[in-house]
Amino acid sequence: MTRLVNISGHIVPAEQALVSAYDHGFLYGDGVYETLRTYEGIPFLLDRHLARLHRSAERIWIRWEELPVDPAEELRKALLAAANTESLIRIILTRGVGPFGYDPHGCGKPTLLVYVQPFEAPPASLYEKGGRAILVSVRRNPTIALDPYIKSSNLLNNILGAMEAHEKGADEGIMLNLAGNVAEGSMTNVFIVRGQRVATPPLSAGILDGLTREFVLGICRDNGIAADEVDLRPEELAAADEAFITSTTREIAPIVQIDRRPIGAGRPGPVTGRLRALFHTAVQATKAVHEGR
Ligand code: PMP
Repeated sequence: MTRLVNISGHIVPAEQALVSAYDHGFLYGDGVYETLRTYEGIPFLLDRHLARLHRSAERIWIRWEELPVDPAEELRKALLAAANTESLIRIILTRGVGPFGYDPHGCGKPTLLVYVQPFEAPPASLYEKGGRAILVSVRRNPTIALDPYIKSSNLLNNILGAMEAHEKGADEGIMLNLAGNVAEGSMTNVFIVRGQRVATPPLSAGILDGLTREFVLGICRDNGIAADEVDLRPEELAAADEAFITSTTREIAPIVQIDRRPIGAGRPGPVTGRLRALFHTAVQATKAVHEGR
């Protein structure tokens, strides 16, 4: 069971992983990141995570050509060195080390960190009993201010949402956008089920394009399950038959309560259960493709 960090090409044990106090990632949250996990040792949706990292970096004007090392290669080396059965991986790319001030010109090359540690699955009760969510008072930052489509290390918006949820004993805090529609969770995308139809807010609601969200929409398409990307009012979430959240680490997790009121029957529903089963089959299929079987 190994926790290590690859810092711009140098692999060190987690306890010895240090970055400069002048790194703009630390000083200003000036960076972008990705969270991945492995299935049977293979990073899931690696190409899509790297593409999203690339896109986020470009959106904050960190140029890929200036990276000191190749993220894919450093990730491969870190995983090999850790040799965990299953790993949680976090890639952070920051502006780099420079003097005070927001001007990036004084910064050297961007800093690339690849953290690898054993993957710990969420508690089984989340899937068996379902999770509780609340609508938090903090709104998702509007796209025109800091676009959630940029997966930025500036996470205070999400942290405030998550803190409010935890303070109130909930597993996830769901944020509305400025229009009052459901945006996303502090670290997840949100889905509802009405009858046999699945619905999730569109990217235009001002959300991260979660890769699990995209994967689930693909599963729906492939299996003839109707799925709509539509704006959702909070009342529609409360009145849904089922709800679930998605993320790399939680996969598809049922949500059975919103603001302490049951959603549907107040327990994980059949459509969510079916999607979870299809999800696991699809993960295996992806792995088979990866290995060229
Ligand atoms: N929304 C937010 C705000 C997140 O932080 C995350 C987790 N990275 C997600 C959605 C889910 O994204 P993914 O499925 O790519 O893990």
